[in-house]
Amino acid sequence: MGREILREKEKKMTALKKGDKVPQVTWSRKKQTPEQRDENWRTRILACRPSFADEKECWIWDGCTANRGYASLGSEKMHRISYRLFVGSIPIGALICHHCDRPACVNPFHLFVGTQKENMCDAAHKGRLVKKLNHLKVRQIRVFLGAGIKIRAIAKEYGVHKALVTAIKRGRVWRNL
Ligand SMILES: [Zn+2]
Repeated sequence: MGREILREKEKKMTALKKGDKVPQVTWSRKKQTPEQRDENWRTRILACRPSFADEKECWIWDGCTANRGYASLGSEKMHRISYRLFVGSIPIGALICHHCDRPACVNPFHLFVGTQKENMCDAAHKGRLVKKLNHLKVRQIRVFLGAGIKIRAIAKEYGVHKALVTAIKRGRVWRNL
């Protein structure tokens, strides 16, 4: 049902040409009912589509992307809002992941409900894991590995996933160090 609304909206939006002004939306939160707010969000999300867009293209949020590159509006992540508005309700506690691995993308066709495990495959998440380590730490890990310390123990010590330590061990990452 959500995607049908999307198609209807798309028809309206395709009337817009490149360079046209994006329809103005009211952002006064006080006066808005939840329905009006959702309607504004729909418009705003659809306005992110490139003019040549089809389902395959990413719709990169043109607003704030403060939260680790995720499109966000206050504490709400826009890709979650996009999923809720155009696809359906989000199960309690569920994560919304990107097929396209772009946190700022709000194209509902690129979104899926993932489990925590699946989110490990999310590039953004991988990025977060990698950021926990730096060159010095990687060298330390190599020393520990060389000394025969268990992968599990090292992973726990550095707060990273075992798979990452294994990747370091096998030289699949930071090969240049
Ligand atoms: Zn995308």
